[in-house]
Amino acid sequence: MINGRTQLFGIIGSPVEHSLSPAMHNAAFAALGMNGVYIPMRVIDLQDGLRGLRALGFIGVSVTVPHKVAVMAFLDAIDPVAQKIGAVNTLYFQEQPDDTPLCKGYNTDWLGSNQALAEEIDPQGRTVLIIGAGGAARAVGFGLLEAGARVLLTNRTETKGRELADELNCTFVPTADLPMVQADALINTTSVGMAPLDDALPIRAELLGNFSVVMDIVYAPLTTKLLQAAAAHGCRTIDGLKMLQYQGAAQFKLWTGADVPGAVLRNALLAELNRR
Ligand code: NDP
Repeated sequence: MINGRTQLFGIIGSPVEHSLSPAMHNAAFAALGMNGVYIPMRVIDLQDGLRGLRALGFIGVSVTVPHKVAVMAFLDAIDPVAQKIGAVNTLYFQEQPDDTPLCKGYNTDWLGSNQALAEEIDPQGRTVLIIGAGGAARAVGFGLLEAGARVLLTNRTETKGRELADELNCTFVPTADLPMVQADALINTTSVGMAPLDDALPIRAELLGNFSVVMDIVYAPLTTKLLQAAAAHGCRTIDGLKMLQYQGAAQFKLWTGADVPGAVLRNALLAELNRR
């Protein structure tokens, strides 16, 4: 029941209609009997959008493409890890005594990927190969370093890959050298595997036997071609909904202080994915 006490949450980006986050967070409010609502909002003018959210009394907002970096210029404070990653995916408007909310930015993507990986392997002291050098790779890479992993990174465009590897202070592996890599885990952070690239692999299938665990952060389709090939090579696999679920749980905890049972979030995400 939406009424005068309903607390407001949402996601800003452009586009936002593809986002699974409303299904996940609204299921959490329902399961915990909390009077909150989470709505998708297409925002083009970020500064005006943030002013509006503040004025309307929003408490927490997720940030998605293309605003994750640009939003940092408009915040009152930024969490140190989000600052290091250079991207914010979560805003928390904290009430102040003078009624002007303080808007602080966080990044929960790195927590999500670490917790997803931890379902199969503790990253501490393990070697992990990341494929990709985009926004998601940054968060996954910084997360792994926070967790004490040794990180290797490869990317189709070598200059971009080397740039991120330098920033992370980790080793860049050119595509030609991938057959030499043996690691505890492999994480695909590229969009390869997602429609229209759903029939493609981000790494040659015959190399998958060199990894114990294979995680894909692509979640549509849920069982990507990479995960199918990895299972066929005897690897333990982790799908992309896990990262989404854990990063969402971290947001929900930050905004409300409440822990949501993982099954509530996972089932809501699966139901929404199947509905599409
Ligand atoms: P970016 O556009 O920032 O980065 C894309 C990456 O994919 C680059 O490394 C790019 O390589 C690589 N890539 C794209 N096409 C190809 C190709 N045909 N062959 C090889 N490499 C390719 O995207 P993001 O990092 O923001 O997102 C990447 C994926 O992660 C998306 O599918 C997104 O949905 C998913 N994601 C999932 C999350 C989750 O919670 N599960 C969270 C965030 C993202 P190059 O540098 O050579 O162009």
